[in-house]
Amino acid sequence: MKQTQSTEKVLVSACLLGYRCRYNAELLEVRTIPEPADAIVLVCPEELGSLPTPRPRSFFEDEHTGADLVSGVGGRVITEAGEDLTSAFLAGARRTLAIAREVGARKAYLKERSPSCGCNTIYVQGEQSRGKGVTAALLEKNGIEIVPVE
Ligand code: SF4
Repeated sequence: MKQTQSTEKVLVSACLLGYRCRYNAELLEVRTIPEPADAIVLVCPEELGSLPTPRPRSFFEDEHTGADLVSGVGGRVITEAGEDLTSAFLAGARRTLAIAREVGARKAYLKERSPSCGCNTIYVQGEQSRGKGVTAALLEKNGIEIVPVE
């Protein structure tokens, strides 16, 4: 019997491919992801963390960003009004990791500068800063390659 080889799955931030899941419900220009269409598994960690769309803009409270947060060192994700959304961001990151494991994804293309998906750049108190988002940090900590997409 002929064996069919299944395509290795990759995770992709859903807002990069035409899903209206950004905090302000803005649609982004659709990006090109260099993977076969049937490999792509869309995820929005913030919606997976049960946050609504639209939702308040949020950022890291201080220099403790995604890597510190997932390591338990400290850090919080807050809204401009000061509401603490850390637990929702962590829940979304854990659900995203669970999906990655379920589909066997070893790579994730993630939207740069998001408090969830940012790979190199995030916002601290509304200012751009070096660091990883919560989901990017958790995926990387668990051996998944993270690829930033502008
Ligand atoms: S950057 Fe990540 S968390 Fe934010 S809307 Fe896109 S997929 Fe969702």
